[in-house]
Amino acid sequence: MPVPMLDVRRQNGALEGELREAAARVIVSGSYILGAEVESFEAAAAAVAEAQFAVGVSSGTDALLVALMALDIGPGDEVICPSFTFFATASSIARVGAKPVFADSLANSFNLDPAGLEARITPRTKAVIPVHLFGQPSDLRRIFEIAGKHGLRVIEDAAQAFGAEYEGRKVGALGDCGTVSFYPSKNLGGLGEAGLLLTNDPRIADKARLLRNHGAERQYFHSMIGGNFRLDAMQAALLAVKLPHLEEYTRARQQHAARYGELLAGLADSVATPQSLPERSHIMNQYTIRVPGMRDALRRHLAERGIGSAIYYPLPLHRQECFARFGPQPELPVADRLAAEVLSLPVFPELTAAEQDEVVGAVRAFFCAQWARTPSPPC
Ligand SMILES: *Cc1c(COP(=O)(O)O)cnc(C)c1O
Repeated sequence: MPVPMLDVRRQNGALEGELREAAARVIVSGSYILGAEVESFEAAAAAVAEAQFAVGVSSGTDALLVALMALDIGPGDEVICPSFTFFATASSIARVGAKPVFADSLANSFNLDPAGLEARITPRTKAVIPVHLFGQPSDLRRIFEIAGKHGLRVIEDAAQAFGAEYEGRKVGALGDCGTVSFYPSKNLGGLGEAGLLLTNDPRIADKARLLRNHGAERQYFHSMIGGNFRLDAMQAALLAVKLPHLEEYTRARQQHAARYGELLAGLADSVATPQSLPERSHIMNQYTIRVPGMRDALRRHLAERGIGSAIYYPLPLHRQECFARFGPQPELPVADRLAAEVLSLPVFPELTAAEQDEVVGAVRAFFCAQWARTPSPPC
């Protein structure tokens, strides 16, 4: 039985009636950009994220750009972020004219290593972007301590962690501001592009609202240079239909993850399953295992059986050609190792138990075939 890495039609199909109604409402409203649908979604999303302000924008990438612009980060500034993350975390830093400075990650959580952060601080460092990768919050307590000591701003990249908690509080607005993505593969997946900036600081919220709309206080009168980072009414209306289901989606992801953990326990010598660290909730936007030495062979084996998997991410950012212009990069051994070992397995909420059994069966068959060549094969 083939198993998709992600099938967004199952989730959206279950809500088709409501989604059609919301879309129809927008179509007849004649109001397609920002407006009442966006404001009402912003209020609902702010409540879910326990943030005072939510500013709807065109994508998670644009949310990062707006966040950096709102904090006046630009040429001459350095911003530290993990090397092992999605490209947009660092490209947004470069796009505002600042220098992305890469720090290493922790192998047990895939998240920014606070010691690596501290080691990379210079007099030019203005901010840090911890990423709550795969849905698990970063070590925010340590990161805030370091940021406080050195006067750094903190932008949480919560693109994969909308609704996740750290020490009992929702992530996203715990630092100066945070960003969320509603790209269809994210834990609250839209039906197109959308993002959000979260903050408890009214000045950052006001500035972000201006920046997303060309910096115009009123149309054609510009107090600052922003861009077109506006959220469509259609996406807001569709996301508002899905938002009340977020907790139920998260519970399903966490149940799949727990079951993977049990089913893969016998392969602990070959497969490292993801760790959920204390003091935080892991919302399992991705279920990412580590397979030292045999990741690519396992992925091929799964693909031959029609089983989807994904490598998030195959090349750490400090090795990307486009960042070479920032000069020699540091050695980041954990980022390199993770890029060579990670494999994400299907964990979308609607994955069935039979499909999950199929994935695990194929993983097990792969390792049994490897072990068959050893003196005392365990299976
Ligand atoms: C998806 C993602 C983004 C970008 O979001 P888009 O909505 O795709 O622009 C940024 N950072 C991380 C960590 C992401 O996973």
